[in-house]
Amino acid sequence: MTPSRSSLPRSIARRTAAVALVAVAGLLAASPTSSAMPDRPAAADVSDGTLAAPDIPLSNVKAHLTQFQSIATANGGNRAHGRTGYKASLDYVKAKLDAAGFTTTVQQFTYSGSTGYNLIADWPGGDPNQVLMAGAHLDSVSSGAGINDNGSGSAAVLETALAVSRAQLQPTKHLRFAWWGAEELGLVGSRYYVNNLPSTDRARVSGYINLDMVGSPNPGYFVYDDDPAIEKVFKDWYAGIGVPTEIETEGDGRSDHASFKNVGIPVGGLFTGASRTKTSAQAAKWGGTSGHAFDRCYHSSCDTTTNINDTALDRNSDALAHAIWTLGTAEPLPPGESYENTTDVAIPDNAAAVTSALTVSGRTGNAPAALRVGVDIKHTWRGDLVVDLLAPDGTAYRLKNSSSSDSADNVITTYTVDASSETANGTWRLRVQDVAAQDTGYIDSWKLTF
Ligand SMILES: [Zn+2]
Repeated sequence: MTPSRSSLPRSIARRTAAVALVAVAGLLAASPTSSAMPDRPAAADVSDGTLAAPDIPLSNVKAHLTQFQSIATANGGNRAHGRTGYKASLDYVKAKLDAAGFTTTVQQFTYSGSTGYNLIADWPGGDPNQVLMAGAHLDSVSSGAGINDNGSGSAAVLETALAVSRAQLQPTKHLRFAWWGAEELGLVGSRYYVNNLPSTDRARVSGYINLDMVGSPNPGYFVYDDDPAIEKVFKDWYAGIGVPTEIETEGDGRSDHASFKNVGIPVGGLFTGASRTKTSAQAAKWGGTSGHAFDRCYHSSCDTTTNINDTALDRNSDALAHAIWTLGTAEPLPPGESYENTTDVAIPDNAAAVTSALTVSGRTGNAPAALRVGVDIKHTWRGDLVVDLLAPDGTAYRLKNSSSSDSADNVITTYTVDASSETANGTWRLRVQDVAAQDTGYIDSWKLTF
């Protein structure tokens, strides 16, 4: 994880942000699969048509960490950008994926005078217009082996990819896994990848899941609160094993998901805490030691294989697999009927919320569990905006939170909301509030697709 950006003045922060892109497809939407793969035994089918993920063996994940540790030990104690330890880590991960049937690509870039590398691995099959990605940074800081930061995320993503191969999974979406270079120097590798992705390919990425530090020795269970669909998959999974979660704030915008979020791609992820201190309330629900950092070895030489909590690493690996299987095998949503409001509504700067209404009639029963909410909001600093969907009875569904670090323009995307407890007919409203000064905008249009 890299130091925070919200301390930068708006003029500088704005320059570093990528231009917003239209992310048209909802995360749960996919057109019929075109996979040419031969028939394979179907994995266990859960109630909603998605396939159940296998357990990810902790011993396999830890075996990767042991490899990363030996690599660091043999290469000056680290796996940092521009060092031999980084390239050796990448070669290790690549060899595993090549042997497992992935199509791997090594993307090269130059930063602060050294060559860096991203590793991209595509699993054959799935809809090429619906790409679901999961990634982790593979580099460490120069002062240590970086086993929790971020060998843990790299190993969990690797073992999940290998599980996809073991299962010979036939996803409805196209699955792509990634290992980023030079994250510790400012998200350099992932930003290079996103900025060099042709815009048509960017629009095909329907979601990016990030794992950065998922085995902290005094762990917390934090879920990113960005895309509601990804967030819900992780929260539901953890609720299913009786582990409470909290919204992730310490790493907000400080890891590779920010590179994707800045171009309007829905993102999510998992985190177990870094230098922040665990509270007594957190220790009561998660165990561990209150008053101590989640990871006292953050960015230091003691971030070795002894700096890992097995239970947290095991749970987060299984949670990732669950998200890949659930989001990756979801059946395509039928083309729906849309209702749209294209009347512009000005959003006053740092003031009260405004709404735009849509009247739905002639439908029977309740709204769907995957109601799609397409929004096109023009604004020069979208981090200022809080966006909610209000159901006819006034129930609010949070679509987007404000974020001081998100300096990009416009919110043009589609959210998926479980509105199955709401009557379909009635007046729905999009509510938008600008909660910080200096930047303004307007609701250009929005639509509901049932
Ligand atoms: Zn990290």
